[in-house]
Amino acid sequence: MNRKNIDLDNLRHSCAHLLAAAVMELWPDTKRTIGPAIENGFYYDFDFGDIKVSEKDFPKIETRMLQLLPDWKEFTRIEVSPEQAKNDYGDNPYKLELIDEFSSKDQKLTFYKSGNYSDLCRGGHVENPGNQLKYFKLLSIAGAYWRGNEKNKMLTRIYGTCFPTKKELENYLKAVEMAEKSDHRKLGKELDLFSISSLTGQGLILWHPKLALIRNIVEQFWKDIHYQQGYQLVNTPHIASMDMFVLSRHLSKYIDYMFPVMLHQFIEGESSADYSVDEVLKPMNCPNHIQIFQARPRSYRELPIRMGELGTVYRYERAGVLHGMTRVRGFTQDDSHIFCTPDQVIEEVRQVLSIMKYFYAVFGFSDYQAYISTRPEKYLGDKKSWDFAEQSLQKAAVAEDLDYKIDKGAGVFYGPKIDMKVKDSLGREWQLGTVQFDFNQPSRAETTSEEIEEFWKLKTFKQKFKSKNNLAKYLKKLGRGFDVTYVDTNGQAKTCVMIHRVVLGSMERFFGILIEHFGGAFPLWLAPVQVVLIPISDRHHQTALKIAEKLKSEKIRVESDNRKESMQAKIRDHTLQKIPYMGIIGDKETGSQWLSLTVRDRNGKNHGFMSADNFLDILKKTIEKKA
Ligand SMILES: [Zn+2]
Ligand SMILES: [Zn+2]
Repeated sequence: MNRKNIDLDNLRHSCAHLLAAAVMELWPDTKRTIGPAIENGFYYDFDFGDIKVSEKDFPKIETRMLQLLPDWKEFTRIEVSPEQAKNDYGDNPYKLELIDEFSSKDQKLTFYKSGNYSDLCRGGHVENPGNQLKYFKLLSIAGAYWRGNEKNKMLTRIYGTCFPTKKELENYLKAVEMAEKSDHRKLGKELDLFSISSLTGQGLILWHPKLALIRNIVEQFWKDIHYQQGYQLVNTPHIASMDMFVLSRHLSKYIDYMFPVMLHQFIEGESSADYSVDEVLKPMNCPNHIQIFQARPRSYRELPIRMGELGTVYRYERAGVLHGMTRVRGFTQDDSHIFCTPDQVIEEVRQVLSIMKYFYAVFGFSDYQAYISTRPEKYLGDKKSWDFAEQSLQKAAVAEDLDYKIDKGAGVFYGPKIDMKVKDSLGREWQLGTVQFDFNQPSRAETTSEEIEEFWKLKTFKQKFKSKNNLAKYLKKLGRGFDVTYVDTNGQAKTCVMIHRVVLGSMERFFGILIEHFGGAFPLWLAPVQVVLIPISDRHHQTALKIAEKLKSEKIRVESDNRKESMQAKIRDHTLQKIPYMGIIGDKETGSQWLSLTVRDRNGKNHGFMSADNFLDILKKTIEKKA
């Protein structure tokens, strides 16, 4: 961490002391816990007992904090014995637990005191709190389990932030406000885009008509580009045999992220003979693409094979980390696997990077950064293959004129990768694309005794096989890995190079990001409703319908609003719904020789009186350009 980050952390942690001091004066029975600095601020966790403290109390707390400040000249370090420390906290079980823990590890116990307030703390504060802590703000309140453990008591977490200057604080608060306004969960509701129903299940997205429509456009666009780039598109099922994911090693390495195996022999009354194969919800598409590749022998002449699928997968994410559309349990990856020879690798990676650059530009992400993750300490495959793959990634990035950073040792155990992170309109970084080598799945590795032990630890396998011996027999019968090969120029079988890649990541996450990036105001080619026609009164209604017909026949998504509302109210409503264009039709327009309207856009700009033909022309050109 650099000096600036340490200074900021010290500032913010000091401010957490100040928050706790104010809280203890306002609600003296509160039990304090901990208050660390975090990215962009700090928090402090409190047990308020039966008292309900909410964001409405923030002004009161902030005022108290400011009143305390003049007396906070410095932080004084005081060493204490465990007995003294415990004495100070009386019946606060959280602090007593921490004191026991620290003293059992022979750590020195220290209190830090400023003004009249002291707290158990390891240090890391500003020198002159009275002067330095002036520019703070309390931000939000949330529930948080003591030590992050669901079995423990739920505490009240108060988030805040603090900056060295007033200007920096104001800029930060402005950015937060913008981010809140464009939060995809908020906009998803306001614009009727998507929902999550507890009956469907947590982390599972229901796409409402408008967003489903945009998704179809993006998916068609994705398919068109990939066909053009020589991809073969396939479809594979949502469930797969457990055997496949045992062979792919996902069931041993990723078991925590997979939904439980559906063990059919436990269905009461069913004959187990009919259900000998157990299934899983697939967490990845790759093994299925391998099955298609292996459906017949492959010659070097066919390579490279680029197999693509908008493939839906399911991964178990803990409830606590689920977040709108950006962290979910079921999602559709814009997935593809490239099977090629070592000679083709650089060109293939280059093509993927070039597709990424194209897509990001179309969606208005002009700022992106590539990260190359290299060999970690524990890895599969040989060092030579890793070196080759890492060098290929770098060469491809250079050839595509991409600025890249190296994440040393951050590769996944089965191969190095490039991650592409884009900056959205609010300056936040999101990971979208990945190009990833795989030295695991194409190989024909034998199940090791270590792996048998790994499988045996899993409850599912204990239930199914009853003994380690049965499990070993099953694994032996399944055989070795997938063995993805092609026949080379000499008629010899060679292992393929296999590359995984996504460009957008997943449809769910990408749309969550897209909604925020555009603040819900989708560009014309994506807008679910592109034009709303507004007849000023009933006698203009017929003309509006005629214009709507004309636009519809040219595939423009248009609606006519003939509600009994004023023109101003209609314009307001459609502006709030972020409709790109509104066409007003009154006496002047109906009196014209040609079908005409007066056009304005959602930013309030007046484009003036024009013929429907002229308007159609503008629409078509803008859509064509994906502007
Ligand atoms: Zn401290
Ligand atoms: Zn894959």
